[in-house]
Amino acid sequence: MGTELGPCPLCGRPLIDGPSVDRHHLVPKAEGGRRAVAMHRICHRKIHSVLDERALATAYHEPEALKAHPEIARFVRWVRTKPPEFYKRTEPARRRRRR
Ligand SMILES: [Zn+2]
Ligand SMILES: [Zn+2]
Repeated sequence: MGTELGPCPLCGRPLIDGPSVDRHHLVPKAEGGRRAVAMHRICHRKIHSVLDERALATAYHEPEALKAHPEIARFVRWVRTKPPEFYKRTEPARRRRRR
């Protein structure tokens, strides 16, 4: 736990192995994509909330293109101010742990 996987291709913050990290297929699997990259869960969700699979397959299959999208660029500026393991913003509060 806690292994660093390198920088996130979207926001550039470190990826720390665990629940804050997801995998993203730069080309959607449905479009024949095979290459999956590690990415923050919160960054991954943002991509899929802004872009559909067709847009991802045709125009946004490179991190540089994703970062140039105005809404994603705005998100990246915001998420860079958060700790690297932060991912709960869009999660519904379905599980609460008391500690
Ligand atoms: Zn990220
Ligand atoms: Zn994805």
